[in-house]
Amino acid sequence: MKRVNHFGLPLFVLVFTAGLIGYLLGSSRDQSVQESQVRAASLNQATAGDQPAASSSKTPVYSPVKARARGFYAPNTEDLGPNEMRLIACGTGMPTARPKQAASCWLLELGNGDKFIFDVGTGSNERIAAMQIPYNYLDKVFLSHLHTDHFGDLDALFVSGALGGRQKPLRVWGPSGDTPERGTKYALDHLRKALTWDLDGRKGITDPRGYHLEIHEFDYKGMNHIVYQENGVTIRSWPAIHSLDGPVSYSLEWNGMKFVFGGDTYPNKWFDEYARNSDLAIHECFISVPDMITKFQFTPQSALSVGTQIHTAPEAFGKVMSRIKPRMAVAYHFFNDYDTETGIYERVRSTYDGPLSLSIDYMVWNITKDDIRVRMAVFDEDVWPPPATEKPQLPDATQRIPYSNEIRNGKLDMKNVLQPIYDEINEKYKLNEKQD
Ligand SMILES: [Zn+2]
Ligand SMILES: [Zn+2]
Repeated sequence: MKRVNHFGLPLFVLVFTAGLIGYLLGSSRDQSVQESQVRAASLNQATAGDQPAASSSKTPVYSPVKARARGFYAPNTEDLGPNEMRLIACGTGMPTARPKQAASCWLLELGNGDKFIFDVGTGSNERIAAMQIPYNYLDKVFLSHLHTDHFGDLDALFVSGALGGRQKPLRVWGPSGDTPERGTKYALDHLRKALTWDLDGRKGITDPRGYHLEIHEFDYKGMNHIVYQENGVTIRSWPAIHSLDGPVSYSLEWNGMKFVFGGDTYPNKWFDEYARNSDLAIHECFISVPDMITKFQFTPQSALSVGTQIHTAPEAFGKVMSRIKPRMAVAYHFFNDYDTETGIYERVRSTYDGPLSLSIDYMVWNITKDDIRVRMAVFDEDVWPPPATEKPQLPDATQRIPYSNEIRNGKLDMKNVLQPIYDEINEKYKLNEKQD
């Protein structure tokens, strides 16, 4: 087995290097570069000294003044083909916070214009924002289960998405539980209640249409059961085995292609059956037990239990993928660092030798029937909200909830200081707005 990460290079360097190598070998942007990138980004199957052969006979024309094709994905710069899927890892990590990896979140864009978010774990909302997609297109979320590392940023996406231009309710699908209190509807009804102060304070001030949750709870025991079917897209669910009754896995089928998201689960017979024939399959691949003990401070007893029984150990991940044989296997739910990646890789490779991505946040897959291209996104830190795609609706100012007199009377007099702002904006936009 060829290995690339002898030097402890971060994965994005490998991806970029592989892309460059592929390009210099004369591959076209859409064909063999992609193949070489799949090989390298899918972890460590090619090295600089082990270059993939170029399959294109085209000789590239270089120029000192012309830009070459990019080896990375820059949000909001590429069209999506009508028969193409683009998957972006907006969270690949753990419930414990770290800047490098948010918790589980997968943004899937389809060539028909539909976009789906699978899980919205803690910290993932800013990754979603980095993709610069208008929030009106990001109105569908599918939750695998109700651990915070899978839905902990739902409140953030709900409120900041509305403020950022989502002019419609946020639609959320998720499983029931073995009791009503353990189901998605209970969780989100109470999440909405927890946001009472936040939402009340926005009444009468901004476009109100986005501040609604549309909750679709379905039976967690449904077997390959259809939970969504619109616009040529079919999403099915089946049970996962993790922590308590309730978690599920999903498949999405569209245009002859199949995407699978396992959520968190011990390897199970339903995934083994329903995830077959997938173009890309995501399954958890937990931190290795030795790393859990030495780096994550688990006791050996807890590490064994959590790392192999509640979750899927890397060796078991490999076994699952050997059985279902996706066109691309995607592993997540481990801290992917220079000193952990090789260990995970060896363990997965002890049971699986097919196409593999050991994911990290901002990894991007472009999937067509002929090709799967893997790259890293390079994004702008300075994003502002993307445009609202419909005309903003002015709020009904009578809906504003006033301060009490006691609080209102504490205001310092700033009228003279603030009036020039009103004058400037009223003149520029032909308005007649007045201070409170
Ligand atoms: Zn979980
Ligand atoms: Zn998890």
